[in-house]
Amino acid sequence: MSTITNHMPTAELQALDAAHHMHPFSTNADLSKDGVRVITRAKGIYLSDSEGEQILDAMAGLWCVNIGYGRDELADAAARQMRELPYYNTFFKTTHVPAIALANKLAELAPGDLNHVFFAGSGSEANDSNIRLVRTYWAEKGQPDKNIIISRHNAYHGSSVGSASLGGMAGMHAQGGIPIPNVHHINQPNWWAEGGDMAPEEFGLARARELEEAILELGENRVAAFIAEPVQGAGGVIVAPETYWPEIQRICDKYEILLIADEVICGFGRTGSWFGSQTMGIRPHIMTIAKGLSSGYAPIGGSIVNDDIAKVIGDTEFNHGYTYSGHPVAAAVALENLRILEEERIVDHVRDVAAPYLKKKWEALTSHPLVGEAKIVGMMGSIALTPDKSSRAKFASEAGTIGLICRERCFANNLIMRHVGDRMIISPPLIVTPADIDEMFLRIHKSLDEAHAEITKQGLMRAAN
Ligand SMILES: *Cc1c(COP(=O)(O)O)cnc(C)c1O
Repeated sequence: MSTITNHMPTAELQALDAAHHMHPFSTNADLSKDGVRVITRAKGIYLSDSEGEQILDAMAGLWCVNIGYGRDELADAAARQMRELPYYNTFFKTTHVPAIALANKLAELAPGDLNHVFFAGSGSEANDSNIRLVRTYWAEKGQPDKNIIISRHNAYHGSSVGSASLGGMAGMHAQGGIPIPNVHHINQPNWWAEGGDMAPEEFGLARARELEEAILELGENRVAAFIAEPVQGAGGVIVAPETYWPEIQRICDKYEILLIADEVICGFGRTGSWFGSQTMGIRPHIMTIAKGLSSGYAPIGGSIVNDDIAKVIGDTEFNHGYTYSGHPVAAAVALENLRILEEERIVDHVRDVAAPYLKKKWEALTSHPLVGEAKIVGMMGSIALTPDKSSRAKFASEAGTIGLICRERCFANNLIMRHVGDRMIISPPLIVTPADIDEMFLRIHKSLDEAHAEITKQGLMRAAN
């Protein structure tokens, strides 16, 4: 076979892709028919494709490229580490400097007594580790039946069998024989879609109290942990009402339930603090990390656990680990990423400059005829599209139809903004400047106007009964 390069015509690359590459979360037959976009390089907040288009990436890849694309320092760190020690494992009484250094750095950055790191290759793997960590923890404390993990509908915790079981995505649970036993789901704090006649504060409390009801129903001595994203990401950037998290914390404390904060998206500056738990004022016993840990430059994830859990797990042989736990090249890249985040004060930039500027513009989108609520925390935002703001109506068309039309307009205008059902979401690189945000909004407004015109023309601006 001849070498496949960036210089080939797009159609040829698309055909080769369709022939042998199976895409995740896709209907591959449709992709081969329509042809996929071929991304060739990236710099800062812009992607380039094989047609020479410059695309503003308001999703930071998949919520991960926090420091932006094209930082040579990370490439250099990877090359240096590959030459020195490309691989060694951390099983069987061995370690290496990148794993030592990264674990120490994370212990320093993480709040409270979250001082110990179990490494994985991804967020999914880390959440699988969490299932085994919390169950082993209670078993070692003489409570092997305290093994149920409570999660939420419409949560995303990964795509492996264990992590997708924790997640609450109906479409995922419909395939492949999941969930695994002893995972229980409560409702999400999505006021716009599910709040009915309640005020947001009242609804937030009600949804948090579902945790208490579930614990009482299942039995306090059966529930090991509650897992949640500080802000639901893949579920549509769902920001809980202010009353929600304090009540969740109270319930976890009262019933001695381990709180797992899935920080895979919220961690490393995205919410304007180092971790989303700090922004939401919660004190988790375990944090799941991945994505922004390396800004996506290398695959790495992990679980940061507190002193108590590390002690209990440490007193037994924990029969769990991955070939690539603490991979030296990925760890070196993550360390360099954290150095840049810290030295360039990128989390401060988010909190003091980028997020306030973005928030003002984002919330003003509610004056657009298609937009109902606009939610934003730090650098993750969502808008709910609606045919009728006052009643928070859903569209008569199948959920996601309108979101998809809007996403296609964004794509055509060289803006990556995703849709989750009929919500549009953004999660741009943390380094965006006010000028970048201005450019982003030119494209957002154009795309929303075009989508609105098309939806109106097709007679789709109609509410469901
Ligand atoms: C992406 C994501 C995961 C899964 O991470 P992978 O690296 O894709 O396995 C887990 N939790 C949350 C909150 C995520 O957004």
